[in-house]
Amino acid sequence: MRILVQKFGGTSLATKELRTRVCEIIHTNKQQGFSMVVVVSAMGRENAAYATDTFINMIKEVNPEPLARELDILMSCGETICGVLLANQLTARGLNARFLSGEQAGIITDGNFGNAHIRYVNPQKIKDCLQEDLIAVVAGFQGIGENGEITTLGRGGSDTTASALGVALNAECIDIFTDVEGVMTADPRIVENARLLDAITYNELCQLARDGAKVVHPRAIEIAMQKGIPIRVRSTFTDTLGTMVANQANQLDVPAKIVSDRVITGITYTSNIAQIKINTSELKEPKGIELKVFKSLALAGVSVDFITVQPRAIMFTVPSEKAAKAMGILQTLDLLPEVESNCAKVAIVGAAMTGVPGIIYKMMEALTEHDITILQAGDSYTNIWCLVKMEHMKKAVQALHDKFELGNK
Ligand code: ADP
Ligand code: MG
Repeated sequence: MRILVQKFGGTSLATKELRTRVCEIIHTNKQQGFSMVVVVSAMGRENAAYATDTFINMIKEVNPEPLARELDILMSCGETICGVLLANQLTARGLNARFLSGEQAGIITDGNFGNAHIRYVNPQKIKDCLQEDLIAVVAGFQGIGENGEITTLGRGGSDTTASALGVALNAECIDIFTDVEGVMTADPRIVENARLLDAITYNELCQLARDGAKVVHPRAIEIAMQKGIPIRVRSTFTDTLGTMVANQANQLDVPAKIVSDRVITGITYTSNIAQIKINTSELKEPKGIELKVFKSLALAGVSVDFITVQPRAIMFTVPSEKAAKAMGILQTLDLLPEVESNCAKVAIVGAAMTGVPGIIYKMMEALTEHDITILQAGDSYTNIWCLVKMEHMKKAVQALHDKFELGNK
């Protein structure tokens, strides 16, 4: 049995007309002899009636701090509604389909509300569908804890569902259909001349995704990589092949250049970051202050990033929505922290950039040429990042993309 897992994102499923297009794609693959497993997200984005964010706003109106368990039950409804509709739309076209919830599809999670990890998959009901020559339409983003509680997998969780099913069913490929042509050198919403990457390694894509390119969830890539199941990232709206994600050239029909020698894969950004600075030079008792700061934040459940500790200052970032809480905690320690609330992290990402001289210099050059203030900077084996003010974010991404000549000429 040749199994194909195809996941469709929210914008691809937003209206009946769009779902017709989705049905056509599924039909074509079915005709080619594939057993089809289709994973769906909730329909539409932001203000759409059955989008995840709409449910969150709805529950927050009655309780600003929603019950985590009940919030997950509500959030899981978006994928259920969408999947039930698509299964019916397929069947009405003569393509017999059956809807399965995350639980029915055997997605067993660690039971963590809001950000559950998949522990394992028991795909028996999906196999039953395929045996009966039915298209299995599975609700993405949801699973069930071993205690029987409905749990959701966090933002981008439907990608993870698709990947886990691809691995569990030993699929030939996992198709991630979305609203852009594939994985590009930068977010095409920000950089007009971003270039489509027709082939990319799991490793490269994972780095991009971790650094903010939300086109595929990093966990989904890691899961597929473990078993070497190829991923294709492609557009629902065009017939182009998109981006092939694999380890090597001999997987599927991947162009030989998949074994990447490129130094820089792309430019990414993450917004909604707040930077907090504490001047420790005038403290009466500066000894052990780092310990106090980070312990208090940890106890309050505030996770910090980009930490710089110097003899006279401590600097770090928190997600914007945690800034007020973090500031409150620091004030109770009798510190006078300063906060830069609206920041973004821009990064140059490349799995092969370690040890290549001159990249940091070029990055600084690009940003200074555009009068962009660097608030903080750092690097790892696979990226170099700068923290900038939110108002400079787009300009910074474009400047870096231009400087490293990543775009379409
Ligand atoms: P879906 O609802 O289909 O899962 P997402 O919004 O999660 O779609 O992901 C697709 C979006 O990812 C695109 O619309 C694009 O704006 C964004 N994106 C960010 N970085 C990149 C990148 N490097 N390449 C392609 N898309 C990117
Ligand atoms: Mg997504």
